[in-house]
Amino acid sequence: MSIEPIYVTQPYLPPLEEFIPYLQQIWDKKILTNGGPFHQQLEQALCDYLGVKHIALFTNGTIALVTALQALRITGEVITTPYSFVATSHSLLWNGIKPVFVDIDPNTFNLDPVKIEAAITPQTTAIMPVHCYGHPCDVEAIQKIADNYNLKVIYDAAHAFGVKDTGGSILRHGDMSVLSFHATKVFNTFEGGAIICPDEKTKIRIDQLKNFGHVGEVTVVAPGINGKMSEFNAALGLLQLKYIDQALLRRKAIDTAYRERLKNVKGIHCLNDSGEKVANYSYFPVLVDANYPLSRDGLNQKLKDSGIHPRRYFYPLISEFPMYRGLPSARGENLPVATAASSQVLCLPIYPDLAMSAVDEITNFIAAQ
Ligand SMILES: *Cc1c(COP(=O)(O)O)cnc(C)c1O
Repeated sequence: MSIEPIYVTQPYLPPLEEFIPYLQQIWDKKILTNGGPFHQQLEQALCDYLGVKHIALFTNGTIALVTALQALRITGEVITTPYSFVATSHSLLWNGIKPVFVDIDPNTFNLDPVKIEAAITPQTTAIMPVHCYGHPCDVEAIQKIADNYNLKVIYDAAHAFGVKDTGGSILRHGDMSVLSFHATKVFNTFEGGAIICPDEKTKIRIDQLKNFGHVGEVTVVAPGINGKMSEFNAALGLLQLKYIDQALLRRKAIDTAYRERLKNVKGIHCLNDSGEKVANYSYFPVLVDANYPLSRDGLNQKLKDSGIHPRRYFYPLISEFPMYRGLPSARGENLPVATAASSQVLCLPIYPDLAMSAVDEITNFIAAQ
């Protein structure tokens, strides 16, 4: 068994010596934040890499979500998924918006478009889906509903950095998409995030909102927040971007190895791969069903006891946390697919520096129970 614990993820770090020149430049220029040169360079570099038109960098993904809702002036009720990280729904509460939970699709674990319409009320103003595990939502079906009911669509794309469908970046869909560059994500700036939006006018409004609502020196047009990414984080992003393709290739190899080694293990099901033109292999979720000798929680504990630390993403469901569970849409009967998924899922370790020998060790352990 391993001596060093193996966690579900490990941040991908570029060589330290390559970061020193960036730091030197920050020290020389003494520009630390407020849309400095690295901030501007990273926005352009990400537009080029991701193939999107406008991007606004943020201090983290959660503030970006909160700001996206403000930029679109969303109020009332927003339809969202309970099967996500809690920041998705928290961004609604921070705007005084009521989350309305809709169940997920059993194949993709993304918001089920078939169930959205029944949850729309006169108060509904938007849909906030998540590209869970970086697997794209049914963007066309969601857009169709949004168009029919005049709703905005804000994608929580925190898992979906670099994912492309046949038409290009997955981030081009909806009115806005929000990325997270947190340490645990595929592309990281230690902490960080971004909003992708389709036009320059919206980008200007977002940039005002992330800078206290300031326009110029003496004018404040909105009760904005401080959501600016610092030069330090932007520089990290620029360097990280040089290594992202190589990191994604390693993730793909690990994903392939897991699928191969787990395919004959009874009671363990790998979630379908996203089937996209370019996937990012950000997570490796498996489902532990009744044919496996241990329960999901039993397997989780046994792995932990032997130094392997998977995570139950997403358990509990967001709708089960105290600030949400009183909502009518949070009831278990309303969310049978999400409830079942949440009781069976286990995300196995996946990150670029994970050795193939560790993948063998993990899969052998799971097969030997
Ligand atoms: C990580 C994450 C966030 C929050 O991003 P931060 O940058 O950590 O604030 C939001 N939604 C989802 C689905 C996430 O995984």
